[in-house]
Amino acid sequence: QGTVLLQVRVAPLGLERVLVLAEDRTEARRVEAIRRDFVVNVSHELKTPVGALALLAETVADAADDPVAVRRFTERMQREAVRLSALVQEIIELSRLQGAGAVPKLTPVPIRDVVEEAVDRARTTAQSKNIAITTGGALDSEVYGDHNLLVTAVRNLVDNAVAYSGPASRVGVGVSERAGLVEIAVVDQGIGIAEDAQERVFERFYRVDPARSRDTGGTGLGLSIVKHVAADHGGDVTMWSEPGRGSTFTLRIPAADRPGGAAARAARPA
Ligand code: ADP
Repeated sequence: QGTVLLQVRVAPLGLERVLVLAEDRTEARRVEAIRRDFVVNVSHELKTPVGALALLAETVADAADDPVAVRRFTERMQREAVRLSALVQEIIELSRLQGAGAVPKLTPVPIRDVVEEAVDRARTTAQSKNIAITTGGALDSEVYGDHNLLVTAVRNLVDNAVAYSGPASRVGVGVSERAGLVEIAVVDQGIGIAEDAQERVFERFYRVDPARSRDTGGTGLGLSIVKHVAADHGGDVTMWSEPGRGSTFTLRIPAADRPGGAAARAARPA
């Protein structure tokens, strides 16, 4: 409908230009809608921890002469503050990725460095649950990408694999190279994802089980960030999962000798 209106108004410009303008307008509207949505979601998500902190502070003030209670409530305040800070960090990350003109600098990146850094950062949580993380495959591959963004993406996948697995299970990060793409598969033996939820997990703020996700410090933004990083590299991310058996998330990024990042940016996700 918007397209038709625009054609009438700017008809003297010639059809080709009209269509380009119409596309720009549609794209601008789409971006604007995404931004508005995002702000509404963010405000909603921030309200919960901020509200909890306010309530806890009040409770601490009331319990001032009971040191045990004070300690318990201040510990909860600390946990809420850590979660709030992680949430803000991810919101900043995602809005940067969604921003117009946020083109990552793509250079050849050794995938071994990316995997090692991502796994290292997840190691402490994994150890506390007695989960072993193994890495293997074509770790000598190079991708055409942005080191920091790729670490963020792989780390989000590994963090999830650990968070949604039971104690003493295993998480694997396997790399392979196929048809000019480097595939990084993160495999877990965790709780899995119900079929009807599978297509929604990449949406911003979506969690299959909000209560469990809150316990693990989840924000619901991790996979959305992974999806953006993949698209900005001209790659993609796919998943396989079976409830009770585990999940595999596969990130595919163009290999260093086949840069595809810039060309594929047209298909950016919301
Ligand atoms: P969160 O911060 O809540 O982990 P994500 O965007 O990373 O948010 O993931 C969205 C939801 O997808 C999670 O809340 C969880 O329900 C589900 N999920 C993601 N990864 C896994 C996994 N490896 N195993 C089981 N469920 C997962």
